[in-house]
This record gives sequence, C-alpha cells and structure tokens, in this order.
Amino acid sequence: MKKTRYASYLSGSLPRGCQLCVKGEKSVLFVTGMCSRNCFYCPLSDLRKNKDVSYANERKFEDVSQLIKEIKLSNSKGCSLTGGDPLIKLDKTILFAKTLKKEFGKKFHIHIYLSTKLVDEKNLRELSKCVDEVRFHPNLQNSIDAEIKKISLAKGLWARKNIGIELPMFPNQSKQIFRFIKKVSPYISFVSFNELEVGEYSEKTMNRKYKTNKDGYTVKSSINEGEKLIKKLEKEKLHLNIHLCTAELKNWHQYKNRLKKHAIFPFSKKTSDGTIIYFATKDVKVKELLKKSNYLEDNLKNQIIINPKKVRSLRGKILIKRIEEYPTYDREEAEVEEI
Ligand code: SF4
Repeated sequence: MKKTRYASYLSGSLPRGCQLCVKGEKSVLFVTGMCSRNCFYCPLSDLRKNKDVSYANERKFEDVSQLIKEIKLSNSKGCSLTGGDPLIKLDKTILFAKTLKKEFGKKFHIHIYLSTKLVDEKNLRELSKCVDEVRFHPNLQNSIDAEIKKISLAKGLWARKNIGIELPMFPNQSKQIFRFIKKVSPYISFVSFNELEVGEYSEKTMNRKYKTNKDGYTVKSSINEGEKLIKKLEKEKLHLNIHLCTAELKNWHQYKNRLKKHAIFPFSKKTSDGTIIYFATKDVKVKELLKKSNYLEDNLKNQIIINPKKVRSLRGKILIKRIEEYPTYDREEAEVEEI
C-alpha cells in the first residue's frame, strides 16, 4: 500500500473511473435523490435527499440539453452516475447514459454506483450496454450471501476489471468488511473505500455514533482503520486493487482539478486554486465610459463585467468590485472586495 499524491491510499492500481476522477476529468451526474434504502450514514444534503431531482455537477437540470451543456463547459472525459439509487429511475439513468455516449462518443467513460437492493439480471443487462464500470454499494446489514448473489449477476456483463464495490470506511466495522471482501473477491477486481463523513441529512445519527476530527465532518479513525484493513487484505493475496479515497482527495484534488478544467468567461482569469477573478460594476455609467468591446453584461448577477485593462482608468468614477468565485454553474463567490 502507498500514499498517493492525491492524499489517498492505494494497493495495486486505480480503476479507470477513479483515474479520471482524481484528475478532475469526470463530471458527477446525480440522477435522482430517491433511494431504495435509508442508510443511517447517507451523505446527501436535505436539498437532494428523497427528491426526484437531477444535477450535473452543481447544475440542476430537467432537460438533457442542459446536461450536455454542463459536460461541455466542464471539459469532462467521462461521468459518474450516482444518486440516490439510479435503479429506482432506470429509464432516466439509461436515457442519460445513452445521450452522453451518443454526444461524446464511445470513449466517454461512464461508471455507476448501485445500491444492491433493486439489482437484478435484467436491469444490469440494460445498463451494461451503455455503462463502462459498475460499483456496487453493498448493505452490510444483509446476509453476505444474498449481497454477493446480486453482485455476481454482473459477471459476464462487464469484464471483471470493470466490476467493484464501493463503501464508506466504518471504523468500527473492519472485521465485517474484511469478511465481506474476502468472500466477494472472485467477482470483483477493485474495492473503493470512502473516508466516512457526516452529511447534512445524517448529522444527528452520525454524531451519536461517531466522533469527528477537528474539521467537524470527517469521522475519527476512518482513515487509520482503512489503512490497517488494506494491509490486512494485502496479506490475503486476493488480487484486488484497493483504494481508500479521503475527504482531502475529494475537496482539494478532485474538486480543484475539475474547476481548473471548467471553461471561463471573457475578462476573467483563473487562479492556481481553480477559482476565477474578475472586475465588475453595477453602475450602468460604465457603458458611456467604455467601448462595447470592453465590457459584457452578466444577466445572472445583474452586473457588468469589465475588461481588467480598463479598470485603472475607471477608478474614482464608478464603484468597481474585484470578485473571486468558483467557475461552476451556481458561481458561488469566494471573496468580494471593493476597489
Ligand atoms: S444507498 Fe446511498 S443514497 Fe441511498 S440511502 Fe444509502 S447512502 Fe443514501
């Protein structure tokens, strides 16, 4: 096992879905917030939990044309299909996957997270026609055999290298997880553990069950126990690739790298953190002071974005703000300063 440059832990190699994800080359396609399960650790926000809403990254959408637009702006080479449970809205899941393959080509890599509850041979067969990689999220409260029976249905539909399991690293369930992985190993090629986090919806229950680190949302010992578990699994020689994905990887590497690839608008400049910086005013007088080619109307924020080369000449004449924001659909501001 080694620590990766993305602040995660790895035994073997990363599955294709993760390879693209860590570089920020994958978009996240949230199919629906509806789910067939109600896990006590569910990481969904209140805005998404149990709601039949779809998001491409931060963009809520109803029409596939908006989905395509978001993928284009993100310059993604693939996407992950997630939820909720994508199987609860299978038609929508298939429509999204087929649309993306048609628009961006066969090589556009799609992986999917599937809770095992609704899995059957028929829906897996349908998915295998348009999805490249499947990651099962087993229910550790169920009988191991019943869960493995579901996962084994993927055999023959996907190559083994494209079948894996993904689950949170519960620090108090190492033994149970170890037993499960040993038994499921003939059917999969990779295991992806996620550092356990406290989500908005699950906050009360999680805080009763676990202590968190100083950041207030990652669960204590999840990483340590994950590292120990990987070492223990390595000794079993199961020929599995095992990755422990940390919150640091998601927030500092994957997210930042995704931002860096996102298209930006004229007169803005990217920072090394992936945010953008630009100058803007709400004062319409700027239209008399500048040629049309030196500003653009920003209808979303009801402001006028100014060519940075012209800012100096406007100082003292109109109120200008220097804005740093995330180049995502919601354009959340990180810092605003009057100059
Ligand atoms: S399967 Fe996933 S989305 Fe559904 S309740 Fe469990 S953690 Fe939440």
